[in-house]
Amino acid sequence: MFNPLRFLWRVNSRFKSWDEEDINKYQGKQIKKLIKHANKKSRFYSTFYSSYNIDDFSNLPFMNKQLFMDNFTQLNTVGLTREECINHCLEKEQSRDFSEYYKGYLVGMSTGTSGNRGLEFVSKMEAFFMQLLVFFRFPFPKTKKIHLAFILRVFSPGFGHNGRKIRITYVSPLDTIEAIIEKLNTLNPNLISGPPSVLQVLARARNEGSLKVSPLLIISYGEVLSSNVKKIVEKDFNCSVVDVYKSSESFIALPCKHGNLHINEDTTFIEVLDKNNKPVEPGKPGFVVVTDFIKRKTPIIRYKLNDLITIDPKPCSCGSKFRVIKEVHGRADDIILGKKIGSDELRFILPDYIRRSIISSSEYIEEYNAIQTSPENLTIKLQLVANVEKQAKKDIERTIQQSLESIFSKHDSEVPEIEFLYISIKQDFDKKLRRIQRNFEEDFLN
Ligand SMILES: [Zn+2]
Repeated sequence: MFNPLRFLWRVNSRFKSWDEEDINKYQGKQIKKLIKHANKKSRFYSTFYSSYNIDDFSNLPFMNKQLFMDNFTQLNTVGLTREECINHCLEKEQSRDFSEYYKGYLVGMSTGTSGNRGLEFVSKMEAFFMQLLVFFRFPFPKTKKIHLAFILRVFSPGFGHNGRKIRITYVSPLDTIEAIIEKLNTLNPNLISGPPSVLQVLARARNEGSLKVSPLLIISYGEVLSSNVKKIVEKDFNCSVVDVYKSSESFIALPCKHGNLHINEDTTFIEVLDKNNKPVEPGKPGFVVVTDFIKRKTPIIRYKLNDLITIDPKPCSCGSKFRVIKEVHGRADDIILGKKIGSDELRFILPDYIRRSIISSSEYIEEYNAIQTSPENLTIKLQLVANVEKQAKKDIERTIQQSLESIFSKHDSEVPEIEFLYISIKQDFDKKLRRIQRNFEEDFLN
């Protein structure tokens, strides 16, 4: 029987007392178990690995989002089809009601840190484990009761919670900034979690006085937290900002009490590799390859993310031997600016809006970029799957156009001229891939 107290003890003692040898030994065992499970229960993996020696982990082929999405029906071990999951997500996007389980599972459409559309899928038990891990390992500030306002992209089932020690309230990042501020003022949380693009705008509101909350700690997630944004948010809120690093595929890292981002070595195995798929030394950036020990229903084995990370070569002063991520060089998106109707005033539009209109418009989109060159011009670059017909392209453009029109109107802003380009978008190994970019400064009109 599962015993939460024993789990708590384990989660803490592993983090504090395991040395490198303990970590390696444990991970080796977990990897073996996972591969055996995937090979037996997932039709995809048994074919994928059929010509490989499954005992030789470092020679197994890599997974990626494309392979995962293309083979979702055969890959998951519970018999759900890709079509039913996507339809369920599109319905949720339409109704914006993310509170439902689908056949007992949390199914979500992610834009993830790795960008284009993917399915995120966890069982209730898997979600429960991840929650426990966060509750037990996260350095919550010492206070009678934590009240966390979670500005969260998609998943809400299981996140809303009101217990004796902790209350979590979900705030949708798809509201306007004004609505988010109003909600936070009413809730008055002592912890706020949100993507850095939202936190940055909230910091300004705090500075200007419209946002009146004084949290004890701020948690950044979902996008890259640059040191610059971190500084601004810490200054305007007068509290620390810590980062968590979670992708749709795995809960990769949590901060320690010294604010450093430690890999969850007991629930995920992270390889950091160079262009030629060779391991890089700590201190140098490399691609993240994830193997997750929790997600058994959609096994994640040697799954390559588009993110680059640098491992800190120095051990953390907190004493834990779990590796520290010094920097995540993943997605960093810009805030789009709308020009208020009948005035020169600029209004903030969060990148999430733009991302969602693009990814929910069609299944054919593999990769995308949206670049705002002025408040009047927005260029959308799309990389589609092969052989998409002209009519289908027109439909995609119309859907995106309509969705963006409604977003800009909702923000009381003029709709920019939207140009569509069809090109191949490659990620430059050495640069961050910003999918939503703004090429002009905010004081553009002054
Ligand atoms: Zn530490």
